Amino acid sequence: MAGEFSRRTEGLLDQAETVCEHRGAKLTELRRHVLGLVLDAAAPTGAYELLDRLRQSRRGAAPPTVYRALDFLLEQGLIHRVERLSSFVGCVAGCTTGHGEGESHTHAAQFLICRQCGKVTEMQDADVTAVLARAAKEAGFSISGATIEAEGLCGACRSASARRPAG
Ligand SMILES: [Zn+2]
Ligand SMILES: [Zn+2]
Repeated sequence: MAGEFSRRTEGLLDQAETVCEHRGAKLTELRRHVLGLVLDAAAPTGAYELLDRLRQSRRGAAPPTVYRALDFLLEQGLIHRVERLSSFVGCVAGCTTGHGEGESHTHAAQFLICRQCGKVTEMQDADVTAVLARAAKEAGFSISGATIEAEGLCGACRSASARRPAG
């Protein structure tokens, strides 16, 4: 089934496979397929949409199949779940270099969600994470995971709607 996705996606999938190998985890053909669907999608994709797409080449695919694959990909930090949209996006950093903090392969991330075109941009701003950690510490709180989701208009949509340069 090679060559099913765009060349860029296939490249990321190869890298993700290597990242998994280094950790002693296995990116099975099914997991690779689901990750490919997430990476190839233009916008964040929900589990049922992924199931529909998966069924185009795997007729018997059932919801638990997709959920188990998604759980694995989340654990490996190869994808993120955007709660606001109940959808999944690929983490290119996770696919290319891998990233891990302590025991976990997941990492703190911020998402900018465009309410017009639905585009989601991932940021990994250490300052944001540090400020949040400090404020939490002052409240006697220990953070184990932090995903921040911000809604608004992306640069392209801003310059399309207002005829002045964005930013
Ligand atoms: Zn990420
Ligand atoms: Zn937009």
